[in-house]
Amino acid sequence: MSKQETFPITIKNKYLKTYKQNNPLIYREALKEPGKIKTEGSLLDLYSENDQYMGKGYYGKQNKGFGWVISKNKNCVLNESFFRAIIGAAVKRRSSFYISQETTAFRVFNGEGDGFGGFTIDYFDGFYLITWYNKGVYIWKDMIVACLEEDLEPKGIYEKKRFNKDGKYVDANDFVQGQKAPEPLIVLENKVKFAIYLDDGPMVGVFLDQREVRKTIREVYAQGRSVLNTFSYTGAFSVFAALGGAIKTTSVDLANRSRPKTEEHFQINGIDPESQDIIVEDVFNYFKYAVRKALCFDLVILDPPSFARSKKRTFSVAKDYVDLLKDVIQITSKGGVIVASTNYSNFDMKKFKTFIDIAFKELSEDYRVRETFSLPEDFHISPDFPEGDYLKVVFIEKLS
Ligand code: SAH
Repeated sequence: MSKQETFPITIKNKYLKTYKQNNPLIYREALKEPGKIKTEGSLLDLYSENDQYMGKGYYGKQNKGFGWVISKNKNCVLNESFFRAIIGAAVKRRSSFYISQETTAFRVFNGEGDGFGGFTIDYFDGFYLITWYNKGVYIWKDMIVACLEEDLEPKGIYEKKRFNKDGKYVDANDFVQGQKAPEPLIVLENKVKFAIYLDDGPMVGVFLDQREVRKTIREVYAQGRSVLNTFSYTGAFSVFAALGGAIKTTSVDLANRSRPKTEEHFQINGIDPESQDIIVEDVFNYFKYAVRKALCFDLVILDPPSFARSKKRTFSVAKDYVDLLKDVIQITSKGGVIVASTNYSNFDMKKFKTFIDIAFKELSEDYRVRETFSLPEDFHISPDFPEGDYLKVVFIEKLS
């Protein structure tokens, strides 16, 4: 490991309360002289303007923030035993996941929620995937990998580097060490199979944070319903809906790869893909078509990316969600349910619910919120940093 320097740095008075309340994220604007810290991975000793010690952190640029606070203790040393302790505690917290026969994919270490912002670790049936969200934390890669190797008997270790500008993925060979995972690697989620590709671009095939939502769709909402899954990616929601007794599922995604990936997910779960509709199209065009044809679905899943650029438009959840919902409401049957989801971290559940309210009001439709979801247990969040809970899912019944 390269030798790290520790720099004293002063927090502006205005932000003192934030850090006294254990906010783990270091904002650039909270620092008096952020410009003097040049190298990512540098350790920071944070002081108040009147020289009170506030904590130890590191510099790692992410789309949000300048770095992370990692300890209140000035003498804290970032060595292998430090990482073994925090990763060990995180593993212990997930002991029920480790013994489960029905679910073999889950989050093991959730960044700041487990005491160290900037990286996460996911488990896929014995394989571990580390995702790095800034260049700073990457200097501790060898130590973190060694911890996994020594304490967790991984079959193999993979990584995703998401420390390009804007948190974008750095395309690379994602294999780190150990055995290579089969392609696909079949994992289970509540007994349903998922095909995981650990070394095939930024995403592995499934978003683990929607586990409870998928389960609820299968157990409570799918039976006897026609289901539309928009922004369907590999069809994970569609598979759960089909297994839950949906009459038919329709999956819509712009990406060509979504068709074979969705077919594969149906196939490995014993569902004939021919019995389901898979449509490769821009969702916005599909909505126009569906409204024109007066199509109607009993369950519509709306889980768009926070930002997306297609040939014709740039989409952002903050600006476009109300309009998207209005399209969805028009093609949802009376008594039908909309699963409105977003992982956009810059607004909270309260704000998200106002979007829902506006969309229904503008169409003079009535609705009732049936239930809401945020991150599942394995995506452990810090009580001092509620914005770490980025996931917001609302099951809405259309009444009129
Ligand atoms: N809901 C999915 C995850 C969505 S990931 C799940 O839980 O599994 C975002 C997906 O949106 C990607 O597959 C991307 O191809 C798709 N996408 C982005 N813009 C789109 C658009 N305008 N129309 C259709 N799909 C789009």
